[in-house]
Amino acid sequence: MPADEIMTEQTTVTQTDARPVPTLPDAQTVISVKHWTDRLFSFRVTRPASLRFRSGEFVMIGLMGDPDPKTGKQKPLLRAYSIASPSWDDALEFYSIKVQDGPLTSKLQHIQPGDEIILRPKPVGTLVHDALLPGKRLWLFATGTGFAPFASLLRDPETYEKFDEIVMTHTVRDVAELEYGRQLIENLAKDDMMEELLGAENLAKIRYYPTTTREQSPKMGRITNLLQDGTVFRDLGIDGIHPETDRGMVCGSLDFNKDIKEVLEGFGLEEGANSDPKHYVVEKAFVG
Ligand SMILES: Cc1cc2nc3c(=O)[nH]c(=O)nc-3n(C[C@H](O)[C@H](O)[C@H](O)COP(=O)(O)OP(=O)(O)OC[C@H]3O[C@@H](n4cnc5c(N)ncnc54)[C@H](O)[C@@H]3O)c2cc1C
Repeated sequence: MPADEIMTEQTTVTQTDARPVPTLPDAQTVISVKHWTDRLFSFRVTRPASLRFRSGEFVMIGLMGDPDPKTGKQKPLLRAYSIASPSWDDALEFYSIKVQDGPLTSKLQHIQPGDEIILRPKPVGTLVHDALLPGKRLWLFATGTGFAPFASLLRDPETYEKFDEIVMTHTVRDVAELEYGRQLIENLAKDDMMEELLGAENLAKIRYYPTTTREQSPKMGRITNLLQDGTVFRDLGIDGIHPETDRGMVCGSLDFNKDIKEVLEGFGLEEGANSDPKHYVVEKAFVG
């Protein structure tokens, strides 16, 4: 859509809501912010009327950078972010790290409702249903903020239409870092609107498998080790991962992604892409 049309739509929304006229390019307004730990927060922003995306995709978001000391000019400071809300939601949700000396998140962590962020409405990504062949069981493997794309997919009816069982594994260092994901899953069944949209029988398809690597919790360890030694399968009563039935989506650090790819390939699964759907797909949760 041409930029002038986007602006027209945004101006209309702005007038209806009596909000200030956006001053940033591709500006969206922060609706709410929730801090989960000193390293994690989530927030919701307005959704551009023109933005269509598939649950699991990511966009570039950010803030204006500091003025150049010589020219005084400001440039947008943008980073990739998975959209944590489902494609049907009116607003957009993000789940973010706070890197204390990070160029973006050292500032982004201070946003308040009413503030503006920049959002480039060009969604992309591989953690989408289109990149997987049909299967019976979907494994969602996340570490840290890698939960974000799955927060979107777990709230999308398509996930339940396509699979009989969904195993959501989330590995973090400390118990508090599980809270965003734990509450999201718990609230799916408590929220009447979500239950009606997704169906109680579909919500019963979710198997949540949280693990911690540092702080003591009921299940300790890296998911890669727990898969390799069979603990996950024993705990969930599943007879392993098989290319005929099982599909996977992976979102974590580069090291984690590399390790779990090896594990999944060991089970005979092959990596797919948007243009070539196969058994599993991978996305980086961050670079570095
Ligand atoms: C495809 C993709 C999707 C992403 N989705 C998200 C998301 O949904 N939520 C999110 O918080 N970040 C996400 N990121 C990371 C994000 O783009 C930024 O790196 C992050 O917001 C930090 O920005 P920064 O400018 O403060 O620091 P950067 O200069 O970008 O990063 C500084 C260092 O902090 C560490 N770091 C960065 N991001 C993370 C993270 N998420 N978890 C742990 N350590 C990190 C890395 O070691 C990195 O080298 C995604 C990255 C990619 C490539």
